[in-house]
Amino acid sequence: MKPTILVLGGGIGGVHAAKQLSREIGNEDGINLARILVFERKKQSLYAPSLTWLMVGKREQNEIYKELSKIEYNGIEVIEGEIEKIDPKAKTVTSNGKTCEGDYIIASLGVSQNNSANLISEGHNFYTVDGAESFHNELRSFTGNRISILVSSLPYKSPVAPYEAAMLIDNYLRENDKRQEVEIHLYTPEVKPMPFANSEISSHVVKLMQEKDIYYHPSHQFVKEKQDKIEFRTGSDDTFTANPGLLAYTPEHIAPAVLSEAGLTEDSGWVEPNPDTLETKFDNVYVIGDVIELSGEKNQPMPKAGIFAQHQAEVVAHNIARKISGKSPDRTFKYKGSYILDSGNRADKISGDFEKGGNQSSKSGALRHWEKVISEKAWFLNNF
Ligand SMILES: Cc1cc2nc3c(=O)[nH]c(=O)nc-3n(C[C@H](O)[C@H](O)[C@H](O)COP(=O)(O)OP(=O)(O)OC[C@H]3O[C@@H](n4cnc5c(N)ncnc54)[C@H](O)[C@@H]3O)c2cc1C
Repeated sequence: MKPTILVLGGGIGGVHAAKQLSREIGNEDGINLARILVFERKKQSLYAPSLTWLMVGKREQNEIYKELSKIEYNGIEVIEGEIEKIDPKAKTVTSNGKTCEGDYIIASLGVSQNNSANLISEGHNFYTVDGAESFHNELRSFTGNRISILVSSLPYKSPVAPYEAAMLIDNYLRENDKRQEVEIHLYTPEVKPMPFANSEISSHVVKLMQEKDIYYHPSHQFVKEKQDKIEFRTGSDDTFTANPGLLAYTPEHIAPAVLSEAGLTEDSGWVEPNPDTLETKFDNVYVIGDVIELSGEKNQPMPKAGIFAQHQAEVVAHNIARKISGKSPDRTFKYKGSYILDSGNRADKISGDFEKGGNQSSKSGALRHWEKVISEKAWFLNNF
């Protein structure tokens, strides 16, 4: 019997894991040594890093999606539908009322957005395609004098996305000769940008905002919407109320219920696999991507980012391929990599080892902007 690997989720981690498995196991046309089943509720796979470009009209909706069926070759099959149940002991997954059994599971189900906490009636949730698009529609005809970006709660995926959104809006307003009239504000409960990185990186991002006259409000915990204003807690007894103007916000993130129901989450509410192998407490059941919560040397939660979901997919796919061929797993995962913060025509690339508090550096320039564009194109070309 061919081994069967159940890949849960057809987003960045799931697609990359399926493709890597297919390559590492030696699947090729006509010779498929393993079955790789990808379970996904949507017909299309979203490349979420492009949402900030959608907000400012640098992308159209149809440029940031691909049909998931395009990954169906070399042993990969897509099973469309909602995953209703995971049994990690039996290694079964139920979708559309049908249960499939596998030898291995890789779960990459991302985060769920808790919309019951969405009290911001006038704002745009730019962590969705509809929200990023509706923000752009309002931005195009905007005649007001204030735009706000709000990080509504922690943790949130993509640690630079709110900063990137603010910088891209700055760039959009400058290109359209409207910057003089508009204030840009960024509110966040974090004490500084990217608190898991070293202090030079955080200071560098603060300096970038100062250079662009973006008003930065750290340690501002969103409490509630009050008429058309937002109330924040800024200290144990202190509150602050602001009129946001045109508002884009990040939603509250939680782990998908199907993972908690399967007993895969811990007290943190997230999955905490073995940090080196990403195997959960259940044999041959792995988890990758945004649903993981692990801490680094500074005791700060490690960032949830597509770049790490991809590295994790590579490690897990490689180790599963070794196990299938009777060899011992020999790769481990480290939170090492690069993250690009785009400001329009130039960008800042932050690279290093994020588990070690001090070990990162940044490079700036127009080339970094093009590097981010090329990463997006490469994602689609390599996978679809
Ligand atoms: C605005 C924004 C900007 C970003 N910018 C960057 C960036 O510049 N660089 C970077 O590295 N990362 C960036 N990211 C983060 C990156 O998109 C995520 O870290 C990455 O997508 C995580 O991959 P994942 O596989 O864990 O989750 P996802 O890509 O979210 O995939 C999860 C998939 O699982 C599916 N799913 C969930 N539950 C079920 C179910 N019950 N049944 C069936 N299917 C289900 C979902 O539909 C989804 O397709 C950004 C994110 C956002 C929102």
